Amino acid sequence: MKIRELLELDKTTLSFEVFPPKKDMDFANVEKAAFGIAQLHPSYMSVTYGAGGSTKGHTIRLAGDIQKKFNVPTIAHLTCVCATKESIEQALSQMKEAGIENILALRGDVPKDFNGNAFTDFSHASELVKFIKENGDFCVGGACYPEVHPDSASKQADIEGLKKKVKAGCEYLTTQMFFDNNIFFNFMYRVREAGIAVPIIPGIMPITRQVQVKNAVKLSGCNVPERFKNIVDRFGDTEAAMKQAGIVYATDQIIDLMANGVNHIHVYSMNKPQVAKGIQDNLSEILKVVD
Ligand code: FAD
Repeated sequence: MKIRELLELDKTTLSFEVFPPKKDMDFANVEKAAFGIAQLHPSYMSVTYGAGGSTKGHTIRLAGDIQKKFNVPTIAHLTCVCATKESIEQALSQMKEAGIENILALRGDVPKDFNGNAFTDFSHASELVKFIKENGDFCVGGACYPEVHPDSASKQADIEGLKKKVKAGCEYLTTQMFFDNNIFFNFMYRVREAGIAVPIIPGIMPITRQVQVKNAVKLSGCNVPERFKNIVDRFGDTEAAMKQAGIVYATDQIIDLMANGVNHIHVYSMNKPQVAKGIQDNLSEILKVVD
């Protein structure tokens, strides 16, 4: 099923994300975790793409298998950094063969050890979106950044980039993680004012380990509110307590979003079936009301 059709239904969606392994030897473990999440029957699942295309085969295999075995629609991520038109064509034909209908089209980041020109055929995700649309019947989504992409000169420049992505054929946008919902609501105001009308799906990251906070901030540059810092300070050293607090904090963000009329939520469940289940269980009665 195409994600665009799913988002158009007058229904709430709760989706989960998994990431593929870098090494073949780790595939079985990741597959077990991903299948554990698929058994929860989320609205859909997305499978990320390793930096510079390093996990292409695993991304496609995992996304294809989740769909076939569990009847859960999947999105395969695809990046164009370090890629050529030929390599993207090849990835698209493998996706078609695997029955994948949905792609999250991303620019990606230049891998640290890469020497050379990483942007030969594609400079931005918008170019990848256009290329995918010209080369198959895929539903294509993209990324957006409530706290502004680090490469953007300003909030306005970032929104201009988004407009180009949508004009190129991007049918929905999923946000970078954020820990303060007001940042998302402010972003929505700017995006809608700029005339961008596609669905915007907030991406919620449950932080269940102390080390994740540093990584999340380093990777995304997102703000960590005082309230959340206090949680990490108090419970970060105790694994089970931090996990519980992280699930509750993410649930709280989701409930606030839903209470304010946001119908589609994506959870960065990071190959953790227990975390996905914890959030789903916490929302069980709420989902009956908003569905
Ligand atoms: P772009 O949309 O190309 O934006 C990059 C910069 O260029 C921005 O500053 C933007 O404003 C500007 N820009 C955009 N279009 C134009 C244009 N046409 N002209 C001029 N400027 C423009 N990385 C991975 O490696 N694998 C993944 O699976 C992955 N999944 C992600 C999922 C989500 C939901 C998010 C939010 C990020 C994900 N990333 C992933 C990270 C992403 O690859 C990086 O954030 C990367 O730096 C930017 O990718 P992008 O697709 O947003 O780039």
